[in-house]
Amino acid sequence: MAAQATYEFKAEIKQLLEILVHSLYTEREIFLRELVSNASDALDKLRITTADSATDDDAPLEIRIEADKDKKTLTISDNGIGMTEAELVENIGTIAHSGSASFLKALKDSGGSADGIIGRFGVGFYSVYMVADSVCIRTRSHREGSLAVEWTSDGQGAYTIRELTSGNGAEDGETVARGTSIEVRLKDDQAEQFTDVEGLRHIIRKHSNFIGFPILVNGERANTVPALWREPKFQITKEQYKEFYSFLTYDMDEPMDVLHTSVDAPVQFNALCFLPEKSKDFMGFDREDWGLDLYVRRVLIQHQNKDLIPQYLMFTRGVVDTEDLPLNISRETLQDNRLIRKINTTLTKQILGQLGKMAEDKEKYAKFWREHSRVFKAGYMDFVNRETFSGLLRFNSSACEAADDLVSFDDYISRAKLDQKKIYFAFGPSREALKLNPHLEIFRKKGVEVLYLFEPIDEFVMDALHTYKEFEMVPAEVAKPEDLAKLPDVETEAPTDSAPAPEKDALEALLLRVKAVLGDGVADVRASSRLTGSPCCLVNPDGHTTSSMDKIMRSMNHDNSVPKKVLELNPNHALVRNLADLNQSDGNDPFVEQAARQLFESALLLEGYLTDPHALVGRVQDLLTKSSGWYAKSK
Ligand code: ADP
Repeated sequence: MAAQATYEFKAEIKQLLEILVHSLYTEREIFLRELVSNASDALDKLRITTADSATDDDAPLEIRIEADKDKKTLTISDNGIGMTEAELVENIGTIAHSGSASFLKALKDSGGSADGIIGRFGVGFYSVYMVADSVCIRTRSHREGSLAVEWTSDGQGAYTIRELTSGNGAEDGETVARGTSIEVRLKDDQAEQFTDVEGLRHIIRKHSNFIGFPILVNGERANTVPALWREPKFQITKEQYKEFYSFLTYDMDEPMDVLHTSVDAPVQFNALCFLPEKSKDFMGFDREDWGLDLYVRRVLIQHQNKDLIPQYLMFTRGVVDTEDLPLNISRETLQDNRLIRKINTTLTKQILGQLGKMAEDKEKYAKFWREHSRVFKAGYMDFVNRETFSGLLRFNSSACEAADDLVSFDDYISRAKLDQKKIYFAFGPSREALKLNPHLEIFRKKGVEVLYLFEPIDEFVMDALHTYKEFEMVPAEVAKPEDLAKLPDVETEAPTDSAPAPEKDALEALLLRVKAVLGDGVADVRASSRLTGSPCCLVNPDGHTTSSMDKIMRSMNHDNSVPKKVLELNPNHALVRNLADLNQSDGNDPFVEQAARQLFESALLLEGYLTDPHALVGRVQDLLTKSSGWYAKSK
């Protein structure tokens, strides 16, 4: 072949160059990321092809960047695989080999403005023309007997290739070192910035910090942190993990847990994930500040990618590195990417598995739960991992001694009564409030555990899960007293307010009277079999909606009306017994009416439905006045 030849660029490359040369894009520094990652690929390829045989020299594999202020040049060299002349024409001369193709397509789709999309694409080698007047590539393939070749172009439409032989004024091609060096002759207005050594080091650290080969800027190493996720686990110390975690998150605390994993199928990826000690989700701020950093072969492709993990695991910080994606993949393509979805599926399972392991240490898991459960609970929508997710939920319950004790569904099931195929739960503002909830009295009497729910999302979780290991989730409030009645009592002491139930007729008459007094305010009035210590409670007539859920639904529909409920009276309560007696002797006794209203409004108050407390307060004051008079007389 001729020792020197000039070729025209293909039309599409001309178009690309035209755009890049005239671009006003400000972050031109990304050209360095592209050249460094090409160099790193070339080193990787050499390592793979020569895995078992020694290379022709013992020099360490590295990337050198030399800046020359006076000559206004920047040279990026690697002692990687190099290119033969044919490869050079094929690789650099055709767009099929470059990220440029997808860039051009996106450019077309975007209606022609390049500046908005340059940074989001790996524009490849040609991005160098954003800063270069001309570029000179010198390369020699690792293949035995290869001659060195030189490629030069000012990016104006043509390039020249010549063999580097002693005959044409250049050094002898066979003595040129293996690998590739790219000399960038900087544009005048870019020379200052891209020959500044500190600036260059900063750019390397920003975009290429985890490249697996040393990157030397004017002889000094610039990439400081090794790509820890690609290193064998057993070689990594706890301190290294912590250091990397701090580098990644700026969090100076130690991470609570580390997940370091390497997966080959169904998709290849390495991941290094951390569980921070503290939640960032306080008060719901910074909702967008999450995601894993996505690397392709140690090159950062996207910071905080939100498709790699589900949102309910957003407390996980870390990186994912895959070999299965091209370096120059666009964000648009990433968003609905099958590979990313596969990584997500695998990683989700692994993180849940890791949490499962952590749960064996109750104290540690409680810490996790305190910090991250608010976010984690949204996982009730992950139907694929429902069983595992459910197993990781924790609640306070009636069986706990302290407010911060936690139980799992499995703990609950292990204590369930014979034939109890239900998990009972109740929603309330606090443990104290739930202890006083009349609906839970029968559970105490029968020794049946009730999970305590304190946050509105808890009820959605229960509703969505519906079952766990064949146990049905049932709100204590709508539990059927018959289901519990069969169980033997565990509370032997009768409540102090208890009294023998009134005769059937007297009770019936009282129920009718109370219903007449309350009229349209209630759906029905009936005797209760669920109460022990309280005189009354309200239940939903449909038998399945809880009052807390009902309230959420109503507030969503801007409905402020008071729902019609069934008032249940406890026949074994002294107050009910007295009222029945009074009603028996005088069917119009005004005290019965007053007491009926008072009981009903107190029950409404407990359920949070009483909007106007005036009547109730007036009645309480009237009753206190009367009773204090009687009390004073009897003293
Ligand atoms: P991409 O890296 O997306 O393939 P580029 O335009 O950056 O696109 O590079 C085109 C091709 O040129 C690369 O795929 C590679 O085969 C070759 N190449 C670029 N730089 C080097 C290098 N330093 N050493 C060896 N080959 C290289």
